[in-house]
Order: sequence, then C-alpha cells, then structure tokens
Amino acid sequence: MEYEKMLNRLYMSLPEKTTSKERFELPVMESSVQGKKTIIKNFSQALKTVKRGEKHFYKYLTKETATAAAMDEGKLVMNGKFFPDSINKLFTNYINEYVLCHECKKPDTEIIERNGVKVLKCTACGALNPLKKIG
Ligand SMILES: [Zn+2]
Repeated sequence: MEYEKMLNRLYMSLPEKTTSKERFELPVMESSVQGKKTIIKNFSQALKTVKRGEKHFYKYLTKETATAAAMDEGKLVMNGKFFPDSINKLFTNYINEYVLCHECKKPDTEIIERNGVKVLKCTACGALNPLKKIG
C-alpha cells in the first residue's frame, strides 16, 4: 500500500515532457507457429525500421534461442515453437543493446569498428558504447 502511494507520487512528479515527447516506436515482430516451425513474417521490415542488418539480429536470435533458422524472402523461419512474446522480448533486448544509445536512449546510432571492437556510435549525443560480441 505505502509502496504504491510512493510510486504514484513518483509518476506524478515526472515532467510531462519525458512521457509524451517523440518516443521511438519499437517495431514488433509478427510471428506465428506453423507445425513445428515459427515464422516471423516481417523480419526484414522490422530490422529495416531499426536500421540494423538482418544477419546481425539473426545471429543474436539463433544464439539466444539455441535454434536454427533460415531467412526466406523477408521472413524468418525458425525451428521450434516460440511465442510472439518471447521473440519480442529478445528483440527488445537486442534493440536496447545494439540500437538505442546507452546514454541518451535515442535510436540515432550506427555500429562502427574501432581497433577490432564493435562500437555503438550515437549521432545524437556522440557517445561511444563498446558492444558485446554475438556468438
Ligand atoms: Zn546518445
């Protein structure tokens, strides 16, 4: 009870700007299970929206789910059954790590390489965030 009151107060004291100002709309992976496979229908499109290569997220997803997958004309066909929720949770984690600036949380970033290390470079605030290697 007390905790809830505290939370309410916290929400109310947040300036209006941070909640309504042009927030980055996260794309959602649309997937469905067909037999023993899971098909992500808008795989290419979703990655275009976050400006990341399909192969990059493909590597991330297959590693995190420990499954094999194949790209097929903009779709991704994964072995095994996965709930849309779990795919999107991984996609959100991926976006937080590899798309949004770790400092200012804006999506205006690009992945560059510095001394053999992949770095997330923010074009909005100039921050450089070394990235975890996939695989
Ligand atoms: Zn930034």
